[in-house]
Amino acid sequence: MENPVLTIVVPCYNEEEVLPETILQLTHFLSGLRDEGLVSKKSKILFVDDGSRDQTWHIIYKKSLNEEMVRGLKLSRNVGHQNALLAGLSTAKGASDCVISIDADLQDDIQAMREFILKFREGYEIVYGVRRKRDRDTMFKKYTAQGFYLLMQKMGVNLVYNHADFRLMSKRALAELERFEEVNLFLRGIVPLIGFRSTSIYYDRKERMAGATKYPLKKMLAFSFEGITSFSVTPIRCVLLLGFLSFFISLLFGSYFLGLKFLGHTEIGWTSIITSIWLIGGLQLIAIGLVGEYIGKIYKETKRRPKYVIDLDTFNLPVPRPIIHAGGSEMELYHRDMGKLSETN
Ligand code: UDP
Ligand code: MG
Repeated sequence: MENPVLTIVVPCYNEEEVLPETILQLTHFLSGLRDEGLVSKKSKILFVDDGSRDQTWHIIYKKSLNEEMVRGLKLSRNVGHQNALLAGLSTAKGASDCVISIDADLQDDIQAMREFILKFREGYEIVYGVRRKRDRDTMFKKYTAQGFYLLMQKMGVNLVYNHADFRLMSKRALAELERFEEVNLFLRGIVPLIGFRSTSIYYDRKERMAGATKYPLKKMLAFSFEGITSFSVTPIRCVLLLGFLSFFISLLFGSYFLGLKFLGHTEIGWTSIITSIWLIGGLQLIAIGLVGEYIGKIYKETKRRPKYVIDLDTFNLPVPRPIIHAGGSEMELYHRDMGKLSETN
């Protein structure tokens, strides 16, 4: 087997604090793999800047000027982790035999990627990185994440337990991934649907090297809601069940109140009327809201809007080099030459 071309895709959103260390560790790791002859010399690391407002892109761009292993993709604005990842995968696909995605904070074990490659060379098309334990995560993160996997499972969504977006995919798997054209993207749910020969590698998850999590509780809740409603109609079924339940309860109450009427105690009915109005009203609102959620999804899907817009791509295109002027620091020079960039950052 000829050495496969590997691209490591790293989505980055406001990661200036960890990025220099991440670049250092990943380049070191990749040159190790290249020297070992496990991957081709053409292998690269693609950093996707997801519309960061800090120095993230500058760090990536500057590094790509003198390190051919480091390439950058700059998105026009923040589109979220999943879309940024997809942008990276699609960009890398053409020139790679396999692609590994990993978060910029290096909470996932870099060394596990070596085993990913070994598995790929054995013929696996998808290799999932699975967290063995999450001791290093905060208690809160650990339990909310576990609750999330459990809830997803109960909702009938097929997920690889404790696997996030740390995985290897072959060129063939990536090509199939592109055929899933949904706008409401939830990669963790989609990748297992591709099938092919796949396996898992276990590793210990570490603490974030620096900087804060980009997934506060609000985003996490939105993410799980997105996951559930993109993959399962269980919520609608629950609403239907609730409807039936309240219907039968109201039948029981109805006969009870009728009995009261014949016994001549009608005036006590006020309480029950008020309660049932509120109850039914509430149920209806929930039901309409939920149905609306799905209609909203259909609405989004039918528009087929692009999931991301690429501003600059130094993976498939040559790195735009700054013209060297007399005087001025290197940083200033490329700010001036990449006029558009310095305006947006
Ligand atoms: N990220 C991104 N766009 C966003 C939010 C996050 O590209 O809008 C990236 C972020 O830079 C990191 C990865 O997604 O590389 C995972 O984020 P984070 O580590 O903050 O999440 P956690 O590990 O806390 O769940
Ligand atoms: Mg993280």
